[in-house]
Amino acid sequence: MDLGLMGKKALVCGASRGIGRAIAEGLAHEGVELVLCARQDAALAKAAEDIRQKTGARIHFRTCNLTEPDERNTLIAAVKDFVGDVDILVHNTGGPRPSSAQETTLDDWKSGFSQLFEMIVHLNEAFLPKMKEKKWGRILCITSLSVIEPIPNLAVSNAMRSAVTSMLKTLSDEVAHFNITVNCLAPGSISTERLQELMEARLARTGQSKEEYLKQYIGGIPMGRLGTTEEFASVAVFLASQKASYVTGSTIAIDGGKRRSTY
Ligand code: NAD
Repeated sequence: MDLGLMGKKALVCGASRGIGRAIAEGLAHEGVELVLCARQDAALAKAAEDIRQKTGARIHFRTCNLTEPDERNTLIAAVKDFVGDVDILVHNTGGPRPSSAQETTLDDWKSGFSQLFEMIVHLNEAFLPKMKEKKWGRILCITSLSVIEPIPNLAVSNAMRSAVTSMLKTLSDEVAHFNITVNCLAPGSISTERLQELMEARLARTGQSKEEYLKQYIGGIPMGRLGTTEEFASVAVFLASQKASYVTGSTIAIDGGKRRSTY
């Protein structure tokens, strides 16, 4: 199937590893020219080189801490230098520190807003005008299954990602007639370095064996396993494509059936 992505240009955030990196690679395979960003220069450069080697795509990269407004401005200028404007914008960063709702301080809520919400508004402001002019665009945002079923002890992530989902749904209504789609992708349990790190930390804390924990954890997933980043990226690449032109304002769960709601 020709996804109609050849020659498109994309900015993929949080692209040095995990889900963001896999989406970048998936888009590169379809002939998309990429700008990658993440915080760590060496890891980002390595990801860019690996993807370039595998796909032959044109790949640019710029280190950026997306929570910092000045760094975002520098990134936006760099993207314009590299590729002009982008057709596809993939919002993705790391998750905030775990805490219960009662333990979360006002400062934690504010930093969660800056970590998960502010950068999306800023990058949309920078890249939406040209998408509107061209009458084509794709905005994807990586959220979490927690927007459908809040996860205990992840108060900031639950709240901020739900706010992001609602903000983007509102935006999707406003830009649909420009052929710009805006969708969220909600990971359930995707096997990434981050997920492994969280699991190791939990095992160290509880003394549980890895086999015992995995059995219990995976027991809640009808597919009986973690998802791969490639499986996640396939959905993202489809949503970014010409073929997904009538899908907007949606949250798509990629969770092996884990969520208990019917939508
Ligand atoms: P990850 O930690 O492996 O990768 C995150 C990427 O974002 C890295 O490239 C990192 O450098 C970059 N990043 C983090 N903070 C940044 C910042 N401030 N500025 C710029 N770049 C930044 O995470 P992942 O497992 O690939 O997950 C991606 C997103 O999906 C995260 O927000 C995570 O919380 C969420 N999520 C993941 C899962 C899962 O199963 N993996 C489940 C639910 C939600």
